[in-house]
Amino acid sequence: MKLLSLTLCTTFLCAAQDPSALLQDPTVKAALEAVQRNEPKFIEEQIRICEIPAPPFKETERGQELKRLFTSLGLKNVRIDQVGNVIGVRPGQNARPNLVFSAHLDTVFPEGTNVKVTRDGSVLKGPGIGDDCRGLAVMLATIQALNEAKVQTPGAITFVADVGEEGLGDLRGVKNLFYESLKGQIDKFISVDGTGLGIAHIGVGSMRYRVTFKGPGGHSFGAFGMANPIHAMGRAIAKIGDFEVPANPKTTFNIGRVGGGTSVNAIPFECWMEVDMRSSDNASLKALDAKFNAAVRAAADEENHRWNSTAKVTVSPELVGLRPPGQTAANSPIVQTALAVSKALGLREMLREGSTDSNVPMNMNIPAITISGGGAGTGAHSLNETFDTTNSWKGTQRALLLAIALAR
Ligand SMILES: [Zn+2]
Repeated sequence: MKLLSLTLCTTFLCAAQDPSALLQDPTVKAALEAVQRNEPKFIEEQIRICEIPAPPFKETERGQELKRLFTSLGLKNVRIDQVGNVIGVRPGQNARPNLVFSAHLDTVFPEGTNVKVTRDGSVLKGPGIGDDCRGLAVMLATIQALNEAKVQTPGAITFVADVGEEGLGDLRGVKNLFYESLKGQIDKFISVDGTGLGIAHIGVGSMRYRVTFKGPGGHSFGAFGMANPIHAMGRAIAKIGDFEVPANPKTTFNIGRVGGGTSVNAIPFECWMEVDMRSSDNASLKALDAKFNAAVRAAADEENHRWNSTAKVTVSPELVGLRPPGQTAANSPIVQTALAVSKALGLREMLREGSTDSNVPMNMNIPAITISGGGAGTGAHSLNETFDTTNSWKGTQRALLLAIALAR
């Protein structure tokens, strides 16, 4: 096998484990130079794409533009899947391994938001300019550089502009990718998300619930003695507030919103609360989830028991968000390759945690990391989001070299 791979090395890009050796390859050098030369053009693309609105669940228009760009860049089998992910393949010498290189289309901004990008020297300002128009621009620049330098990779690279990464999107794009449209066909996964030079290998998962307590309701004086949904919810909140959770891996809970009732002198017929729980550790999150579900049920039982009335309070916890947790081990080949690529390019970066599209493959034990797209950003998820383009090509170069190093 060793000999075989050495033979292949004479034909195709080699030195998979050593990115600094890849740097000696003339086609890789040419591709890295193309990235630096083309950066101004792709900054313009970043701005242009960002001015196409992509509110949550309404990524179609921006997706159509990415489909057009994928096609014009010569990707094969360009298509849009059932949920709106835009997929295009740059074939390798073999179909496998198949590296998926992704960035997300969606923003957190609602329809009607002014998405005009303004420029002040090297600083661009506009909602979504970094998160994740930067990732989309890096992806396009990477394809262009691979093409210009005629880089032939042993494995395939599938480029994906995915939907539903943010908030209520609940990772629906990447979930569909792994569970349906590219099920069983993804060997490695990189997401380019946001700005800077981070490498996230830990995916903080979250579970979000909307919990509704219901009862018949009645007059506060006349119907006194009836179990009260808000009293039951208060019992639940007191229990949850006293939960003990591990500090490491960091595991958290929060009741962020409550509502319900109709009048000060009415026993309410309904109330609700919204709960967020997080951890990077699957077992810790599951344990917390079990405790939470037991607590809300016990709270309703206690309220019913307290009054012993025939009019019972009921509780229904509805799971409204699930970002599966996971991690790619720091000593795994994909993380080590990402660190070596950064080092080979003279970039220093610490490993970190995140909550991104990579959560899904990490949870499935498919090698995955999320890297940032270079430059410097501020104010992500705010209307004042900025992106400083100073030396942003370094981020594009890193993404390119990492893609070449992993597509084998
Ligand atoms: Zn993002």
